[in-house]
Amino acid sequence: MTLKPSDALGLQRSLSPKGVLPQQADVLDASLPIAEDELLIEVESLNVDSASFRQISEACDGDIAKIGTHILQLVGRRGKLHNPVTGSGGMLIGRVAKVGPSFPVQEKPVQEGDRIATLVSLSLTPLVIRSIKKVHPDRERVDIEGHAILFASGIFATLPQDIPENVALAVLDVAGAPAQTRKLVQPDQTVVVVGGGGKSGLLCLYEAKRQKNVKTIALDYTHEAVERLSSLSFVDEVIQADARNATEVMEKVWAATRGHMGDVVINVANVTETEIASILATRRKGIAYFFSMATSFTRAALGAEGVGADVDLRIGNGYTEGHAELALDLLRESPELMRFFKDHYS
Ligand code: NAP
Repeated sequence: MTLKPSDALGLQRSLSPKGVLPQQADVLDASLPIAEDELLIEVESLNVDSASFRQISEACDGDIAKIGTHILQLVGRRGKLHNPVTGSGGMLIGRVAKVGPSFPVQEKPVQEGDRIATLVSLSLTPLVIRSIKKVHPDRERVDIEGHAILFASGIFATLPQDIPENVALAVLDVAGAPAQTRKLVQPDQTVVVVGGGGKSGLLCLYEAKRQKNVKTIALDYTHEAVERLSSLSFVDEVIQADARNATEVMEKVWAATRGHMGDVVINVANVTETEIASILATRRKGIAYFFSMATSFTRAALGAEGVGADVDLRIGNGYTEGHAELALDLLRESPELMRFFKDHYS
């Protein structure tokens, strides 16, 4: 079979509209053969983005069979797992089935047979699902038979030997969050994590606490999350509140910080309408960092203006150089983190 010509950004894969990047395309061509500089992956599992899985699950009334069919049809229509409601995707694990002869192996060492996790979003990854094997709603994961294609510009991680695979996958999915927390948080600051009881929340809280004299405050919704957070040595205070209720959050963060508020507020809640609470929890000229895919730029920007909040609004990039190793190293360093991830994801 003749390979398609090299195309590092995958532009030739955009079917509709043509000429746009795969992330922007409505429909991708996920057909074979691969291009000379692509990787072909035989996919084992899809780790669906948390905001996306929640939306799909709600649309399917939590019915596992319906969730599977929904995902199968969505990928059949779009040639990628790109949720049109949340705009997000997720990531996958699989085995490398073919390395195109022009794939940049010197820069990104890989060979056929390697098991990898892709670190670029499924919202731009050409994907064909032949069948759904199992839906794991508790892990927001779907085992499938199918193939995916990674462009030469794409990034991936070889699955580590010393961390259970499901755990590694859960961590790699949100690896950008703790990596950026390392860049944002300074010693002696107060850090508030909205939605702190989940995967990225715990990694951010742990990473923030590594800085000298940082006070960490976790905010979450459910009793279960609050209990879990209260038992962790790297969480100084826990607030139970609904992040959609901006005044409740503001008052509780005010009380917990004696009016100082958060120097850095990290939003990792997987629901919509939590922007204003995060902004109101941030001190004047502090940083409100939105990693959540449920974030609306409009709501955040106009919301901050509307309440006269002079805060620095940051968008959470899923990628930071070295983010995969950094996040996995946090687990290697912290038995508490490792226990949480093993209990919930292995
Ligand atoms: P997760 O493990 O599900 O954690 C989300 C947390 O938010 C959970 O503890 C959840 O509590 C909490 N929460 C939900 N509703 C809440 C509310 N009303 N008030 C307070 N807390 C609430 O999710 P994750 O995997 O860490 O992902 C977090 C976010 O990051 C998601 O939006 C995801 O899409 C996004 N993400 C972004 C990128 C990026 O590149 N920027 C990459 C990956 C993921 P319950 O579980 O108790 O409901």
